Amino acid sequence: MNKSKFLIVGLIVLFGCSTGEPLRFDLLISNVNIIDVESGTLLQNQQIGIRGDTIQWIASMKSRQSYEANETIDAQDKYVLPALWDMHVHFRGGESLIDENKNLLPLYTAYGISGVRDAGGDLTPSVLEWKRQITAGNLTGPQIFTSGPKLDGPRATWAGSIPVVTPEDIVSAIDSIESIGADYIKIYDSRISKEAYLGIIKEATRRGITTSGHMPFTVMLEDAIDAGLGSIEHLYYVLKGCSSREAEITQAVINGELGFWSSFEQLMDSYDENIAAATFERLKANNTFVVPTLHIGSILTLMKDQSHENDELLGYIGDGIIQTYAGRVRGALRASESTTARNKRLRGMFRDLVPKLEQAGVLLLAGSDGGASNSYVYPGFSLHKELEEMVATGLSTAAALRTATINGARFMKTDDFTGSITVGKKGDLLLLNHNPLDEIRNTQDVYMMISNGQVLSRPDLDQLKESVRK
Ligand SMILES: [Zn+2]
Repeated sequence: MNKSKFLIVGLIVLFGCSTGEPLRFDLLISNVNIIDVESGTLLQNQQIGIRGDTIQWIASMKSRQSYEANETIDAQDKYVLPALWDMHVHFRGGESLIDENKNLLPLYTAYGISGVRDAGGDLTPSVLEWKRQITAGNLTGPQIFTSGPKLDGPRATWAGSIPVVTPEDIVSAIDSIESIGADYIKIYDSRISKEAYLGIIKEATRRGITTSGHMPFTVMLEDAIDAGLGSIEHLYYVLKGCSSREAEITQAVINGELGFWSSFEQLMDSYDENIAAATFERLKANNTFVVPTLHIGSILTLMKDQSHENDELLGYIGDGIIQTYAGRVRGALRASESTTARNKRLRGMFRDLVPKLEQAGVLLLAGSDGGASNSYVYPGFSLHKELEEMVATGLSTAAALRTATINGARFMKTDDFTGSITVGKKGDLLLLNHNPLDEIRNTQDVYMMISNGQVLSRPDLDQLKESVRK
């Protein structure tokens, strides 16, 4: 490029360059509109320089900085945001489903998902192997954060869970999670005692390990938050903490007079705005994230009203995984009228909670709960449905986008180098044809994805999806 002497001098003044050398990038995206997910604002007509997999430079198109790029993408009229993360998925279903689970990985990428948080299962060695291969660039799929096996009580519901009963069990279970190199701890609530549950959170917090979990109803929500629980999966537990009768209902569960499901009518009837506000304040103050999982809730609650037998995406899910859907489908279809009515009421209350949590400053995470056993919650696509559901509850599009970008990075403590379009951060990017701040469904109209320094055009993404078609 020829530059006049005047211009080069100008560059030194404007950009502090010590030489007139052009900047060098592997990839330069020009003419693009950047979505700043943190502020929810749009920066128009920008250019982004990427070297390796890192964003090196962001400037207006008016910038006179000279550069050389191996590859340039003209992104005129396109919108760019960080590629999305699904913060609650599962890889599971036993050894016979390892290949079918592995086939879900390109599906995530095909839908613009560059990171997933695996919330526990029974395929840990395989998941850890995929994670290594993806990071090394030898396998196409999202960056995986995994909890490894779930921690639960004895005779746990989910295969592969580590049983925790005694204080010694707490130490050895966390030792084993640490030794496999898991990214965080997931606690489930099928049969875990109050003492073991709170003990795990406290010991993990003491060791600096992030936790996430369901919560047994023998525990008061405030005790889980105060112990240091990192994220609460699903809204059942938040709703419990919004009841004026939580202590009394918790005692009834401890006494064996009430169970998880039989508590809900009373919990819903005793929802209290003041207690809810105090609970939200406590969640915020303790930096406890909340994962609403609205989409799977709608799928299960509305199963009698909506058939999924002709869903196009069933053609991309292995037959073995589809067989695991049967349990939840049967349960939903056989539910009594009163159970269905209760679940619909719960769904309504959960949808009311979401914007209130967000307005109170609680950090939300978008999680689909996609994976084996979770019927019709399709990997990749379902994260976009989760964002749609969040906006339908009253969240702004910007707030919804945060739940699948910067908030996920904050939870995983990687926000210094992921989660927003910032110099120094990883350049895993999603280019959209239309502005998602105007309409959240625009996240589904992907023009291009950049992942691990690799450019995936629309045809590349389509081909990835077709590579797993049955
Ligand atoms: Zn789950």
